[in-house]
Order: sequence, then C-alpha cells, then structure tokens
Amino acid sequence: MPQHLESESRKLLGRLRDTLAEDSAGQTRLDRITHLIADSMHTEVCSIYLFRDEETLELCATEGLKSEAVHQTRMRIGEGLVGRVARTRSMVNTADAPSERGFRYMPETGEEIFSSFLGLPIQRLGEILGVLVVQSKEARAFTGDEVYALEVVAMVLAEMTELGAFVGDDGGIPALHQHPVMFRGATGQEGVAEGHVYLHEPRVVITNPVADDPEAETVRLRDAVDHLRISVDDMLANVEPSEKDQREVLEAYRMFANSRGWMRRMEEDIASGLSAEAAVEKEQGAARSRLATVPDPYMRERLHDLDDLSNRLLRILTGQGKETGAAMPENPILVARNIGPGELLDYGKDLKGIVLEQGSVGSHAAVVARAWAIPLVIHAEGITTEALNGNAILVDGDQGVVHLRPEDTVATAFRDKIAMQAEAQKRFAGLVGLPATTQCGRRIALHMNAGLMADLPSLATSGAEGVGLFRTELQFLIRNKVPRRGELASLYARVMDAARGKRVVFRTLDIGSDKVLPYMKPQDEPNPAMGWRAIRVGLDKRGVMRMQLQALIRAAAGRPLTVMFPFVAQFDEFREAREMIEDVMESERKLGHVVPSKLEVGAMLETPSLAFAPDLFFEQTDFISIGGNDLKQFFFAADRENERVRRRYDTLNYSFLSFIRQIVTRCDQFDTPVSFCGEDAGRPLEAVALAAMGVRTLSMRPASIGPVKALLRRLNLDEVAKVIDSAANDGAQSVRGELSTYLASQGYIA
Ligand code: PEP
Ligand code: MG
Repeated sequence: MPQHLESESRKLLGRLRDTLAEDSAGQTRLDRITHLIADSMHTEVCSIYLFRDEETLELCATEGLKSEAVHQTRMRIGEGLVGRVARTRSMVNTADAPSERGFRYMPETGEEIFSSFLGLPIQRLGEILGVLVVQSKEARAFTGDEVYALEVVAMVLAEMTELGAFVGDDGGIPALHQHPVMFRGATGQEGVAEGHVYLHEPRVVITNPVADDPEAETVRLRDAVDHLRISVDDMLANVEPSEKDQREVLEAYRMFANSRGWMRRMEEDIASGLSAEAAVEKEQGAARSRLATVPDPYMRERLHDLDDLSNRLLRILTGQGKETGAAMPENPILVARNIGPGELLDYGKDLKGIVLEQGSVGSHAAVVARAWAIPLVIHAEGITTEALNGNAILVDGDQGVVHLRPEDTVATAFRDKIAMQAEAQKRFAGLVGLPATTQCGRRIALHMNAGLMADLPSLATSGAEGVGLFRTELQFLIRNKVPRRGELASLYARVMDAARGKRVVFRTLDIGSDKVLPYMKPQDEPNPAMGWRAIRVGLDKRGVMRMQLQALIRAAAGRPLTVMFPFVAQFDEFREAREMIEDVMESERKLGHVVPSKLEVGAMLETPSLAFAPDLFFEQTDFISIGGNDLKQFFFAADRENERVRRRYDTLNYSFLSFIRQIVTRCDQFDTPVSFCGEDAGRPLEAVALAAMGVRTLSMRPASIGPVKALLRRLNLDEVAKVIDSAANDGAQSVRGELSTYLASQGYIA
C-alpha cells in the first residue's frame, strides 16, 4: 500500500480506537464509527449490519442511509448483497449495485441513489459477526487499497464486537456468546451431563487491536516469530525419524514459520495500524475462511497447521499460555477441537462430559470416555468458537446433542431426564447382588468392558461378574514409547488383584485401523479398518506380542489367566497365536517364573469368515467373543466410523440377528462358550435380542449392567424369540419396531 494511504489507514484506526475508548453506549459508538469511516473513506454511506440471531442481519448503524431504517431493516443470510457477503464470507465490490446479481431494493433505506457498493464480512477467526458496507453515488469500483483499508477496519470491528463494545441497553445488539446455541453432533459415548464449559485451549483475547507505533509492533512480531521458529526447531530435533506424521506437521509449521508471504502480510497489517497480535489474527482469520472452502484434505490439514501455528504465535505475543488462569469450574465439561488420550487422562475423572468438534467413535478420546462412562459428543462443529469458559452446558450423549447456555425450559427438561436416569440407577443398585435370570429360567452372565485401572472399582459397584473385555491398547496409546514389560506386568497384576478372583479377559493389543500408536511407523493404507491391524500386526511383528504375553503370564503369577486375540479372520491365525502363547509359557517356565494355574485362550469373532471356520477351530478355542462393533461393520460393509453409513443398518436387522444365532448354534455344537462384547451388548433392546438368539454372556460398559439386567429379569426369551421371528415372517427387515411394541405392551419398557 502506498505510504500516504498507510498513514490514512493508521489515522482512521487511531480515531476508531479513541471512539471505542470513550465511555459511551454501544449504539453511540456504532453511530460515531459509521460517521468516521464514511468521512475517512470519502464515501456518502457507511453502514454496519450485525447478527440479530443466527440467521438474521440487522442494520445497526448508518451514515448516509435513512436513520429510520436503523434496527428496522433486516435480511436473512444470503438475501440481497449484504446477505450475500455474509453467506459467502467474501466481499462484494461493484460500481453498479442495482444491476448486481441478488440485489434487493430496501425502500426504507433510501439507498437507490447510491450506485457503488463495497461490502466486507466482519469476522473473527472464521466466525461471521456482521457486514460492513460503504456506498457512494459515483459509479466506481473501489480500489485494492481501499478494500484493504476497509478490511483492516472490519478486523478491528470484529475484535470490538467480540469484546461486547456495541452491546446496547437500548434494545441494541444482543451481546455475543450470550444466547443459547444448540449443536447437533454425533454420539461418541452415551449418557447425559450438566455442567460448565472448560475449554481445552481457551481463545486468546486481544484487547489492543490498534497500535500507534508500527516499528515497535513489527519488532514485537519479528521477535515472537523468531521465538516460534526456535521452538519449532527444538520440537523437530526431538522427534524420532520414525514418527512420520508428527514430523510432517512440524515440517509444515517450519515452512509457515519461515514463510515470507505470511510475514509480509502481517507486517503490512501492522503498517496500516494493527497491533502485532491483531495482524496475526487477521491472517489466521483469512486462513480459516479458506479452510471452509478447500475440499482437498491435504490442504485442509495444512491450513489447520497454520491455524495451530498462529495460536502459538498469539500465545507468545500475549503471554496467554494454555494456563490462562481459568480455574476448572464445578462439574466441568471439556470442550475441545480434538484431544489425545494422554491429555485427556491428565484432566482426570472429574470431567462430567466431553464435547469435541472432531473426533470419531473409535478415537482414543472415545475409548477413554467409554472407560470413564462419561458422555461424549463428537462433531459439534463450531463449539470452540462459540463457547466461553464457565458457560452453562448440557451434553446429551444419547442423542449426540449439546445445548450451550440453554434456555430455562430446555435445562428443566434436561434435568428431568437426568433425574429419571438417576432414579433408575437407584433401582438398578438394588439389583447388584442378583443374577440376570429371565422369567423362562435362563441365566445370562453380565460382564463389564474395561481398559484402565480406574475402571476396576466398577466391578463391585455394577455387579459385573467379571471383565469380559480388557482393552490393553490404551496403555500403549497414552505413552510416547512402547511400554516396558515390567510396567505392563505390574499393571496387569494390579488389574487382577483388583478383580479379586473374578475372571478378566485380557485382549492382546488391538492397534491399526483407527488406533494408531504415536511411536509406530504409520502405514499408508487405503483402507485401514481392513488393513494391517490387531492380530495381523501381532503375528508379523512378534516381538511386541511376545513381550505382552510374557507380561500377562508374569502378572498372573500362578493365578488363572485368560487371553483373547482380536480380529481373528481364519483358524490359522488363531493356531499360530495359540502356539506363540504356549511357546512363551514354556520359556517362562524355563526361566523359573511361576506360570498360570490355568490358561484359557479365546478368539474374537469380528469378521464373518470366522463363523465358517473348520470345526477344529471351534474345538480348539477355549471361548469365542463376538466383537459386534467390527462384526457389524463387515457384515453390512458399512464403516463404523463413517457418519453417513454407520447408522444405516440396525443391529436388530433380522439378517444380523440370524447370523448371531448361527454363530451361537455352531459354538453350542462344540460346547464352546460364546459371549458378545460390542457396544450393543449394553443397549437393553439389543441385549434382549442377543439373549433371544442364544447368547448367554454379554460384556458391556458398567453403567449398562443395571438397565440390561432389570429388563432381562422381567422377560421370557422364548416369547421374545417368537416376536422376532414373526416380525421377520411378516417381512420386517429390522425387528426393532415389533420388539419395542411388544415390550411396551407388556409394560417392560416405557
Ligand atoms: C468390537 O469390535 O466389537 C470390539 C469390542 O472391539 P473394539 O470396539 O475395541 O474394536
Ligand atoms: Mg473390534
């Protein structure tokens, strides 16, 4: 930008800052600002439109249009040129507004006499807050320099809007981040919770967007970027060459940190009057807007990297570290874009719920949330921009819905739901010591799933008969290195101690697919869920599996040991794995270690192929556990992580239930015990259907044991099987409708 324009821009920002510093009401400020901008830009009109609600923009102040239109003229996103700026988040610059596509004539404003129009979004970090418009009679397009100057002004307005500078007592604009917002995401873990927002990475607050001394600001920026470069180089020096993913991210950081273009743009922003942090945020906002329109996943990742890097730079400049001093509120609900299992575990079990913008059902965070039995909602897009530390929040993990700053009516209804669930829990507590015996005399064993030492106390409180699935991968996921054998042995021993003689089924490491170890060389696989995972890795890379088996044998120290191999697709894999454990037992014996008094070795049936394995497999395996989460995805060819298809096929689909019945029949033929340990085991309707198909052991999250037991104890499974079969005879593909109707008609469910 030419120098005289730079100083014009600085002058304008200086006047803006003075206006904002005055102790005046929000509306007065807005009026002064529009006057000031029109005067500086030599335009007849300057108008500010802000959001009245999520969908509606309102003319909040104007210089040049009819004053009666203020707070009267409203338009929806996409409507007219102003609405178009808001929808596309990009400028409209035209010499002839009335003939521009989408132009809408608003008679109350008297704008028909103005030909040229320049509208820019007022946005902060990709969040659109309003639209800034200048208009003039003369038919001319605005120059690049004028556009830039107005962009800088829009940036400052965004900061001030965020800080609540325009909130009026006079029915002006409602303050930001005050009104209720609902987020519709997806279920990561069921359950409901009420609490207060605790942001994993609180936003940096910029209170000084305008600065007087560009030289000093440039020096601050350069110093901060130098600091950033050094810290990125340090991080890079500490990553192992094998940690390809992390290296890639850090290399991208380094590329951006050394990017002349990025630096030049920020220095230009400073030259036109912004402070160093406002300049960083302006470019960050521009990158976020691009993020919304870039379809290429690789580019999106890089833009996310730039976003992370900008956050680091902002923290250096403002001194606002992760620790912003915000104390953990009462009943904290963690809100984050995404979070790793290690960081999540650091927060501890005090968290009442988790809400993520990204995440996936099988992500590590979900594994932890499941282990803690706290609700998790994933894909709550935009929540980190909207939520403030301490805001009231309701998390409905059952529906995948989050209510931020809820209306009283919503909060009351939600509390009723929580109270009902608590009431039910009380009733379930009375069943803890009782067996899940049905009215027809069938005894269903209910076990719990676990993955952390912290889960073990639930064994007593839930009334579980044992741990039907101990997911051992969590211990591997939360470390930066392969855990040592001694560490694992002592953890497994503590798990067995805490189980006090109850059976614990240890599943060997199930990694690959969505569970990627931070220190494992990432495999670039086209379809990881069907790729090199679980037992396939264990059999190919024997060192880790042998080490884990040794740790288990040593932990048992003469007690009975139960081990299960995940994702066995054919008999040979099981045979090899079994040989390996027997071989390890032998060498442990030779080394003088006490071996388990009894060893049970089972297989997880997670691919349809194993149901059709040779008879000998069923004879040689000590037990089978149906991993319904995986089995269902392969049975229906519907990715369990893909929101588009994962709910498309019901577990109560008759084809799936028939398949479960076939598996049970085959196992019964050889007296091979069979259990079901996927998430569906913990859903009362599904659990009942599985029991009606002959499954006699179900393993689920501890909180589900009560509801499942309560229902099973009231039922006659022969009746349930009849309902299922007759629904299928009538052509029902899913028997959910008929089964629910039957259970409701008998008063078993509401
Ligand atoms: C399953 O697939 O059902 C299972 C229990 O294993 P995971 O969910 O850990 O893949
Ligand atoms: Mg599985």
